[in-house]
Amino acid sequence: MRIKICFAALLVCLVASAFVFAQSEENFDVYARGDYRPNVPRPQSILRYDVGDFHTTYAQMEQVINAIAAAAPDRVKIYDIGLTNEHRMQHLVAISAPENIARIDEIRANVARLTDPRKTSAADAQSIAQNNPAIAWMAYTIHGNESASFEAMMQVMYQLAASNEPKTQDILKNTVVLLLTGENPDGHERFVTWYNSVATGDPNHNAIEHREPWSIYGRFNHYRFDLNRDTLAQTQKETQNMINAFLYWNPQVSADHHGQPSQFFFPPAALPINPNLPQPATNKWLETYGRANSRAFDANKWDYYVRDIYDLFYPGYWDSFPSLNGAIGMTYETDGGGFKGLRWLRDDGTIATLRSAIAKHFVASMTTLETTAANKVQRLMDFYNFRANALADLPKGKMKRVVILPDKDRVKAAELIELLRRSKIEVKVATSPFTALRAHSYMQKDAPAASQTFPAGAYIVDLDQPQRLLIKAILEQDTPQDKAFVDDNMGRFRRNQMKGSGQAKEDYGFYDITAWSLPLAFGVDAYWSEDADGGATQPVTDEYIANAKRGSVAGRAQIAYIIPYETDAASAMAIQLLQQGYRVSVATKTMNAAGRNWPRGTFVVRVTRNPESIHEAVSKLATELGVNVIAANTGFADEGDTGVGGESVYSLRAPKIAMVADEAVDQTSFGSIWWTLDRYHITLTPMTINAIKNGGLKDYNVLIIPDGGAGRYFSGFGTSGISSLKEWISDGGTVITVRGGSVFAALKDVGLTTSKLVGSDADEEKGKATEEAETDKRAETEAKPTPSPSPKKGSNKNTAVEPNPNPSEELKFDKADGVAPSLPPIASPSANANKVPEAIPGAIMRATVDRTTYLTYGLEQNTLPVLLASGYFFRYSKEGSNALVFDAKPKSPLTISGFVWEGNTENLLKGTAYIIDEPNGQGHVILFAEEPFFRGIFRSTTRPFFNSILFNGTF
Ligand SMILES: [Zn+2]
Repeated sequence: MRIKICFAALLVCLVASAFVFAQSEENFDVYARGDYRPNVPRPQSILRYDVGDFHTTYAQMEQVINAIAAAAPDRVKIYDIGLTNEHRMQHLVAISAPENIARIDEIRANVARLTDPRKTSAADAQSIAQNNPAIAWMAYTIHGNESASFEAMMQVMYQLAASNEPKTQDILKNTVVLLLTGENPDGHERFVTWYNSVATGDPNHNAIEHREPWSIYGRFNHYRFDLNRDTLAQTQKETQNMINAFLYWNPQVSADHHGQPSQFFFPPAALPINPNLPQPATNKWLETYGRANSRAFDANKWDYYVRDIYDLFYPGYWDSFPSLNGAIGMTYETDGGGFKGLRWLRDDGTIATLRSAIAKHFVASMTTLETTAANKVQRLMDFYNFRANALADLPKGKMKRVVILPDKDRVKAAELIELLRRSKIEVKVATSPFTALRAHSYMQKDAPAASQTFPAGAYIVDLDQPQRLLIKAILEQDTPQDKAFVDDNMGRFRRNQMKGSGQAKEDYGFYDITAWSLPLAFGVDAYWSEDADGGATQPVTDEYIANAKRGSVAGRAQIAYIIPYETDAASAMAIQLLQQGYRVSVATKTMNAAGRNWPRGTFVVRVTRNPESIHEAVSKLATELGVNVIAANTGFADEGDTGVGGESVYSLRAPKIAMVADEAVDQTSFGSIWWTLDRYHITLTPMTINAIKNGGLKDYNVLIIPDGGAGRYFSGFGTSGISSLKEWISDGGTVITVRGGSVFAALKDVGLTTSKLVGSDADEEKGKATEEAETDKRAETEAKPTPSPSPKKGSNKNTAVEPNPNPSEELKFDKADGVAPSLPPIASPSANANKVPEAIPGAIMRATVDRTTYLTYGLEQNTLPVLLASGYFFRYSKEGSNALVFDAKPKSPLTISGFVWEGNTENLLKGTAYIIDEPNGQGHVILFAEEPFFRGIFRSTTRPFFNSILFNGTF
């Protein structure tokens, strides 16, 4: 009997029938595609449980792949591609027909020739495509808690290593399959160990097995980075391992296996699609793979969807990045496992199981490989054409060259060049000054072309090279969005503005930041030019970069070491010296020493105030961090009134840093701060709110409150916690708040700042900026008798976006959770239209530097590009100082790159503060409106952040 008819006890009936309906998913046989070579062990024979009955740890998985590889050496070869932070090895398993495995190095080298059309002709490419298999990159479990993908990988490996089925043989003959057996081993191990220890297989959503604790949350890696956002800045070890391997093998297709929305997802992708991807080729192939998957899923009567949610715009994903390297990059999302555990009750009463979710990934993987095998010649040729066409299309594009100047931070510029080179981008360095006739500054949207002369030492990235499309995608000043997509979202914005506070708002279609241009994010000076001639150059080599990053100490100091604040690492060096117990001072005025003047913010390490070991400590840190330290051998100042012994050289206090690590905290914000401090070897103590409330800060003088829920911080600290925090500040503590942490600080009942959130109930100036702006606009229009419709491209910068505000959606939409939920704390009814900032998903804005405060020591420029990814705009502090602000009357738009709401964002942002210093008794509260190290990509406000840590207790 297939369906039970049952009128009473409806619930029982639902559950019972669910069991019946689920049969087709549940009974899927992963061993129906034989016959199988008997000597190759099935995963279950090693694991001792059936498919989907239990979760496999990383170490157990390694046993499985080793056993299969050992039994099938003719088809399988395992490559170790690098370690994780927690010392796990990442593996790439190559599987192919024996005749391919026998010449695998040759195949790899042949396919690699397709990546350089300057050296490989179309005829040669054709011959390579005919005579070599395609390479398929099949990657699993980048989000460590998306567990069905991890289990499915072992079944795919077994199928390919053991089966003699003709279709499988065909895959082996025509492709080299590369199984990346775990993209995020550390996160997966956290999840699986925890899950196995509490799970009973209960489908009830309230069961503990569906509630992963904060400290487990296996989606992220060790440093709580989302590895599926990291190919842009390539900060994490796993990302570097995988990019190195990916660009060594040059695959033609790349499938990234995730979980777990309501139904299975495979491409075609949703809008917007990164405009640098070549069309119609990209769509044609996404359609080809999508149709093939749909046939396989239809045959199994499985639900799925295409488009809808998962876009292809942000270039830091493991579908867009492969796509920008010529592969067909795809995201696959299965519907079970992960937070849904072994069993999960769906909204219609049926059960999603881990086992059925594995089956679906297995089928999608196999279908992808079959499709690749069936189309291998055309796929290889289109892979070649990706770069050949990019080169041929060069004259059509305006952007011919990017110039990156190392002046503002030699080390940071070198780090940027290093990551470009890891992506096989060729970089040169100017050996003599040269002039670009039509250069555009990165610091202004639609900056006009002007002649610009650059010094020797400038880095040059010419677009006349095979990686042109990738270069454009990650370095261009702004990436335009699809017009249909923009118009659609603008319509939603306008309709939302007319809605009352009680009405539900329409969601926006943006899933991620809309601006990421790396020179801006890093905060290095850059230009792009329409011409690419002139000047002598030499290629940048590993050795050149190593030299650029190397520090030095000029001599053994008799009196003092001078640490110029010319790199971010200089302040990190000062923090480290202080944390190691050495004494460091800072010049608060222009200082004359060692024969020259040094700006405010220059560090001084006096020899007599330190033990003898200071010489070695300075030398070691300078070398490690790339700081050029100068020795001063006399205290005599040649001019001015400040030498190394001057009254204006202040002693610094050793920072003892704690950071909130608790349920209220956004993990990636916590992680990006942790990673940044750790990479400079700055020590910090993560602490729960309870520990802080119970005297945990006794021996600390800095507390970092990362981005997080303002309301949750409020309930976590409580009234008593907040008053003891205030007491601690007043006694000399420094609290550094980030984004949601800053909103918490500005809450009326918290009162850690005299700033108010724009548009909040406490904001007396609410609506003022808009009205002023409208008056200005009217005056402007009246002054110009014939206002013509502006043809400026900049005027379409009016779209708006709102990050997904519903935390439960995080679980549902794998890609929708890149930007932390950030509705302004109050709703925006129609009466408040454009008086309350509408949250934006992430644009780059131009902020103005106040060079009179210690927070901006080390910054000698007037403006700074910063990320804005929320609707949290802060009025000027009334009693404190405003270190980084948005001009009240800017000469050109504040938006440098990305999307903002026209009539809303800029108007409300003008005259607000991005970094605020609020002194309180002996201590300070320092507010950052946004994350200083968002995903490790944004680094432009590193110095103000380090200054907040470093100068606590001094000013
Ligand atoms: Zn995922």
